[in-house]
Amino acid sequence: RDLVSPEAEVDERVIESALRPKNLDDFVGQERVREQLSLVLRSAMRRGRAPDHVLMSGGPGLGKTTLAMIIAAELGAPLRITSGPAIERSGDLAAVLSTLHEGEVLFLDEIHRMARPAEEMLYVAMEDFRVDVVVGKGPGATAIPLDIAPFTLVGATTRAGMLPAPLRDRFGFTAHMDFYRPEELERILNRSAGLLGVELTREAAEEVAGRSRGTPRIANRLLRRVRDYAEVRGDGRLGIDTARAALTLYEVDEEGLDRLDRAVLRALLKSFRGGPVGLSTLAVSVGEEPETVEVVAEPFLVRSGFIARTPRGRVATPEAWTHMGLVPPPDAVY
Ligand code: ATP
Repeated sequence: RDLVSPEAEVDERVIESALRPKNLDDFVGQERVREQLSLVLRSAMRRGRAPDHVLMSGGPGLGKTTLAMIIAAELGAPLRITSGPAIERSGDLAAVLSTLHEGEVLFLDEIHRMARPAEEMLYVAMEDFRVDVVVGKGPGATAIPLDIAPFTLVGATTRAGMLPAPLRDRFGFTAHMDFYRPEELERILNRSAGLLGVELTREAAEEVAGRSRGTPRIANRLLRRVRDYAEVRGDGRLGIDTARAALTLYEVDEEGLDRLDRAVLRALLKSFRGGPVGLSTLAVSVGEEPETVEVVAEPFLVRSGFIARTPRGRVATPEAWTHMGLVPPPDAVY
């Protein structure tokens, strides 16, 4: 399943870091975000001040970590990386904040998963560059204010809507990361192929891009699998035939659907005549837990317009029938 998951695999970060663009000019796509960010960074540098805090929202694998690293690099500032789940109590956050250097960029991934008490500490730190360290317990506890170095927070979240408004409001700039267009993914693939030292034809790049679900992480991962195939079964060059053969072998189809996605669609079309059908019934028919179907397969099927969620259950769209090469019954519900 991992092949088309937007989440990083266990050992994937290492190879990913070799493929990361190092500056804004090499960062492909997200035109508006890049332009806005470039302005924010330049004006801050001109004023000799730390730029406003930046919030990045968007799904996994769309380049949030990459962009945080680029922000630090463009500012010539050190970067500290932590994540919401690592901050279980406010003391964890105080330890990070109180050791920041002036101008340092703090990347806080999955910021929406930070412990609540730490959130309040973060508000104050973002606004006044101060943390209130609580000493003692119970009625005798006192808060000792401690100045911290001015820093720039770069927060990342998959769901900006889940952040409490007071936290959201303290970011001077919010970057919404969208899924990438096929031609942008092609550019990313060409760049990665160059870094990996493989020859990728234009048609092959187009083919891989089309199956990458709008996500650079998936594009780079499919490229590595196609490269493996070319090295073992071919002459090492990545042409269209090799790309197609490799992706067929790995069961990633033209739209980027994998085996589970196709199993869900097939069940919906064949066993339930296109629906409507409830999630649990659909899940049983493919031998999966409802949660797996809902969390792993369904979001992309809905995003690609193959499945619609209706109050009466899941319904296949006409595109689903066409994509699976099946003819809808005359009484199919859309
Ligand atoms: P997660 O939230 O899961 O950590 P992320 O949004 O932080 O994901 P990154 O780790 O930044 O994603 O990116 C994943 C991979 O995709 C990296 O190898 C990175 O080089 C590549 N990538 C992402 N965005 C771009 C881009 N705009 N241009 C080129 N490569 C990109």
